[in-house]
Amino acid sequence: MKGPYPLSKVDSYVTRTSPGAYILSRDGKVAHYVGRSNTDLAQRIKSSAQEGLGYKYFWFEYTTSPMRAYYLECEWWHKYAPVDNTNHPAVPPGTYWRCPVPGCPWS
Ligand SMILES: [Zn+2]
Repeated sequence: MKGPYPLSKVDSYVTRTSPGAYILSRDGKVAHYVGRSNTDLAQRIKSSAQEGLGYKYFWFEYTTSPMRAYYLECEWWHKYAPVDNTNHPAVPPGTYWRCPVPGCPWS
């Protein structure tokens, strides 16, 4: 995972068009929100940041596939319990992916 970086400079750090997972933070220390993109991580981070919850920093990691982005999102969701994610990461429609974390009801 890379970061934390300022959300005002997403394009300076997320330079590849790639699937991946990200974390948003208001203080650069606590993970407040986790998310992923199946196709374009930078675009997703920017649109997510505009939702107005006061995020200022982000971390990210590229993945080699949308499925791996989902796995990473799940792992971070369990690890950091981000307060702005009210629900477990959703499985995309049309897939049969399961959460990789043992003991999770979604696994
Ligand atoms: Zn899970």
